[in-house]
Amino acid sequence: MLRTHTCGELTLTNVSQAVTLCGWVHRTREMGGLTFIDLRDRYGITQLVFNSDLDKVLGEKAKKLGREYVIQVTGKVVERSNKNLKIPTGEIEIMAAVLEVLNPSKVPPFTLEDDTDGGDELRMKYRYLDLRRNMVKNNLLNRHKVARAVREYLDGQGFADIETPFLIKSTPEGARDFVVPSRVNKGEFYALPQSPQTFKQLLMVSGFDRYYQIVRCFRDEDLRADRQPEFTQIDCEMAFVEQEDVLQMFEGMVKHVFQKVRNIELGTLPRMTYADALKYYGNDKPDMRFGMLLHDLTGVVKGNGFKVLDDAEYAGAIAVPGAAEYTRKQTDELTEFVKRPQIGAKGLIYVKCLADGTFKSSVDKFYTEEDLKIWAEAAEAKAGDLILLVSGELTVARRALSELRLEMGDRLGLRNKDVYKPLWVLDFPLLEKDKDSGGWMACHHPFTSWKSEDEQYFETAPGKIRANAYDFVLNGVELSSGSIRIHDRKKQEKMFAAIGLTKEETETKFSFILNAFEYGAPPHGGVAFGFDRFCSMIVSGQENIRDFIAFPKNNAGRDTMIDTPSSISDAQLKELGIGIEHH
Ligand code: ASP
Repeated sequence: MLRTHTCGELTLTNVSQAVTLCGWVHRTREMGGLTFIDLRDRYGITQLVFNSDLDKVLGEKAKKLGREYVIQVTGKVVERSNKNLKIPTGEIEIMAAVLEVLNPSKVPPFTLEDDTDGGDELRMKYRYLDLRRNMVKNNLLNRHKVARAVREYLDGQGFADIETPFLIKSTPEGARDFVVPSRVNKGEFYALPQSPQTFKQLLMVSGFDRYYQIVRCFRDEDLRADRQPEFTQIDCEMAFVEQEDVLQMFEGMVKHVFQKVRNIELGTLPRMTYADALKYYGNDKPDMRFGMLLHDLTGVVKGNGFKVLDDAEYAGAIAVPGAAEYTRKQTDELTEFVKRPQIGAKGLIYVKCLADGTFKSSVDKFYTEEDLKIWAEAAEAKAGDLILLVSGELTVARRALSELRLEMGDRLGLRNKDVYKPLWVLDFPLLEKDKDSGGWMACHHPFTSWKSEDEQYFETAPGKIRANAYDFVLNGVELSSGSIRIHDRKKQEKMFAAIGLTKEETETKFSFILNAFEYGAPPHGGVAFGFDRFCSMIVSGQENIRDFIAFPKNNAGRDTMIDTPSSISDAQLKELGIGIEHH
């Protein structure tokens, strides 16, 4: 070993020992004949002292060290007179006697400090340097801790870690596939897994009973800030279980991980139906850290000759505590907020519930004090509150109210990242309308089973069928999805037909799993957690998955460090049997 200790471990107990350390030159300071160097490695920082009065040659050599030089230093541990109690090694320093430059460094393109001067782009291009910074480094080490806690729990519960292939055929999870051309089978392609869904189900057919894998998944989706084309899941499946068994098993896992990594006790998780989540929070991943629930005012706002509300399919409101004094400018701002194209509401109506019990609203022309009092009761607003009402098409208005609620939660400081409020959302719909084709598609994925009492709706109202599907939600972020699966060939065929697959398509795409279901497939179900998000939420309380991936892609799906995606040569294309078009 080139070193006897790390830069994070020496303390007063080591005083007068001769040690050798290796690391990077983090900072250099000169004071008279002394040169102080902060030597850094993964474990911490240790101060080195070079005394030119005692050893001129050594002192000169130390002065020439640049930032990020990799060095090896041998010397004696001494007690510091000027102690730094903020770091574990802050009570000692090393009186250097020997200095070896293991490798010089160019000046890094940005400072490797907690608060760096490097912008996003620069840091991504030099990600290997960015990873030397405490924040990103600690995130990755914590990610490792989370993975370890997950494995510890699942191993303890008898789950077997089994790898599934990456070069497969499409597994539908609602995204596009990344494809890989086959050289030996020209003109044919593999698809990268959007998830190991079908394989983990086949493992249940094989009898493995409890499977898990911390595994990469690939989805060619339109990119958003919190999305990565490749990401990691904690993918799990169990046989001979009902929904309740799965919920308890993975509630246990989440609690174990929080306890191990953050020393936080989560308590029993509340549960909410999908229908209630939409009704009271306006979306299927409610942030439970604060109230401000949605109230349905459709029944009380109609009949006063105000066309906007008279014609509305739905009118819903939230009561914002203590915001009755909002100025015109502030309410205008909120109106603009809900009218943004991504939200799409037509407008916003407000009612100020003034301290003296009277009301002031943006619709005073149409509604009396008495009317507004009824609104306030329906919205559970108190004196001092601001009622915000959005009307229109049910789904659009609810979405707008949901966004508005989160925005107001932010403004009022109700979304504290150190508060954790997880829950299960249950009874998702089985099918939803595809906006583009108008046909039905699987809400979760087509292997999800449904509630037998809803079977009747297949013919009459497919949108009403409730699935045996559940999500784990934390502070407004969906951390996992799962379901009890179909394990019967006939039912699986019925589902494929419901989402518009022809017999032939079903046969070419899914005969393997349909066949498997005819050889004693056990009842089974499972779940997959988005591992990057899970880490980000547990460790930082925020959703910032890029900071928890060693080498992530940017918002355009590029890795600017290795510069990919990139073109390949004509020769390579030809070898792969892919036609070349020249423009
Ligand atoms: N395969 C699903 C997904 O990736 C999760 C599951 O149903 O287990 O969302």
